[in-house]
Amino acid sequence: MSYMTVQEGKVFVMSKVLNWMKRHHRIATMIFVVVSLPLIYLLVYFTGGIKYVYSHTMYVPILVAGFILGGPYGLIVAFIAGILMGPMMPLEVSTGEQQPFINWFYRMVIFLSIGGLSGYFSDRFRRALKLNRTLISVNQETMVPNTNFMDLIPEGSGTFTVASVIISNRNNINEVFGYEIFNKVVNLTYVHLMSGLPQGSYVMQSDSHLLWVMVPFEEIHKDTEKIISSLSSAIIVDDVKIFVEYYIGAGKMSTISECRTFNPFRESDRFARFAEKNNLPYAIYDESKVIKHHQFNLLSEFRHALDSDETYLTYHPIIDLKNMSIYQFEALIRWQHPQKGLIMPNDFIPLVENTQLVHPLVDWVVNKGLVKLSEFGAKDIKIRVAFNISANNFNDSKLYDKIVEFLNLNHIDAHQVSLEITETILMDNPERSKAIIKRFKDLGVTIAIDDFGKGYSSFAYLSQFAIDYVKIDRYFINHLKDESIFEIVKASINLAHQLNFKVIAEGVETIECLNTIRNLSCDYAQGFYFSKPVHQDDVINYYLQNNDKLGELQNES
Ligand code: C2E
Ligand code: MG
Ligand code: MG
Repeated sequence: MSYMTVQEGKVFVMSKVLNWMKRHHRIATMIFVVVSLPLIYLLVYFTGGIKYVYSHTMYVPILVAGFILGGPYGLIVAFIAGILMGPMMPLEVSTGEQQPFINWFYRMVIFLSIGGLSGYFSDRFRRALKLNRTLISVNQETMVPNTNFMDLIPEGSGTFTVASVIISNRNNINEVFGYEIFNKVVNLTYVHLMSGLPQGSYVMQSDSHLLWVMVPFEEIHKDTEKIISSLSSAIIVDDVKIFVEYYIGAGKMSTISECRTFNPFRESDRFARFAEKNNLPYAIYDESKVIKHHQFNLLSEFRHALDSDETYLTYHPIIDLKNMSIYQFEALIRWQHPQKGLIMPNDFIPLVENTQLVHPLVDWVVNKGLVKLSEFGAKDIKIRVAFNISANNFNDSKLYDKIVEFLNLNHIDAHQVSLEITETILMDNPERSKAIIKRFKDLGVTIAIDDFGKGYSSFAYLSQFAIDYVKIDRYFINHLKDESIFEIVKASINLAHQLNFKVIAEGVETIECLNTIRNLSCDYAQGFYFSKPVHQDDVINYYLQNNDKLGELQNES
């Protein structure tokens, strides 16, 4: 342990006092003035009276009060000083001679002038300083606060969702309407944000076409929605409606001190640029699935991959266990990356699902799958295909129309199509899900619950939905040797049948497993025991060569 020397101790105490005074300079000034007034009175009194030079010391507290505390305080202190140095102070203490009235009255007037004027000029000076501070924290062309404004946000204002808003078609607006109008667009964007966002939100302009937004943190998706809806009003300048294209990147939750480092905004800028590049209205930072830099690059390449045949489908057969024939194929995407090689769906689908890229993804998969069904059809094979549907696809009102369009385009019967969704999708919004399922069912499309058992829903819960199949998760099928899991699967199959759901067992890898699930009256099976997913180019041949031979597998068992 180290001890301070006396000298260090003094310095330490002084620095503490100075620090305190810095932070509480008004209180320090008041204390100084209140203490100095009687001290100066005593000084003047004991040095002989007002006749002598020391009375001029009184200018100090008057000036200090006026300058630091402002005009009214300057006047009050000047008045008290005038009284102390006036009727209360003899001209000559030793003789008791009093001052003539005109003497102290005139001094009082001078004191009041000094107190008042110093206050007046210091107020003006302070106002000029404030104006200057405001000027440097506001963009003079758009009148939107700039990033200097960050210093004016009070400490302890809670946490914020930070976001960047890019005005993407800035060049276009500039070219067509000119810079002045563009500046008005930026200003109106600011106005819309400030009026649409909750109190305590801040908006700053960090670049000509980039705004930084801080919304008091509620939940990152909700906060982003608030920004999106604030920006939905039309931008009208001089009666002309201007189309403004915004891209939003939402970063993680941050405190005001973190915001002052600008780091959270660098991240949200990155997300906004990502959204802009990929033509997504917004991209959100997800705490649980932090998108790392390399994943980011992967995502940026994904859209291009879909358009340039880097992606392809494989088809995983699902076997009807009653007649041991191929009942349907599940379409599973693959990405053959030119540098990184084959990328499996688990390495990119979860990332894609966080962005609007899920929409081009599902379009691509469904389109390819239905084209393949029409190729099967050309060989007189009426087979079924199942597609995996992500939550954002399922909740997208356009999905239904797109599927209808693709079905018509390829002359496919809707009964040949199944959609695999997860339990969590249903749990998110049961009423809405019921309505969506009904629409698809009316069309003839069947619905399967994928990965059943992984989530938290139960058959009691599932019974309210008009689904057709339950796919028991691979984990349970792989662990049938475990007695408790066996019991779960057995009960699940029975319950599913009572509810008129057909059961598909995922991940059947061995003949023992196949035998077990057949004994439990499972309806369909999918798994490496029958086949690995088959490349799109080979699937028709695979079907032709294997559909009849599956019976031999049955005999084996
Ligand atoms: P999923 O829908 O549960 O698909 C089944 C996954 O289990 C496939 O993996 C399949 O290859 C694998 N699998 C099936 N049987 C067996 C087995 O016996 N043993 C083992 N070890 N694995 C088996 P894959 O192709 O890697 O797909 C993984 C997941 O990626 C899929 O799980 C699905 O959720 C998702 N996915 C694949 N393609 C698409 C797509 O086009 N769109 C969407 N949204 N998701 C997709
Ligand atoms: Mg699936
Ligand atoms: Mg599955």
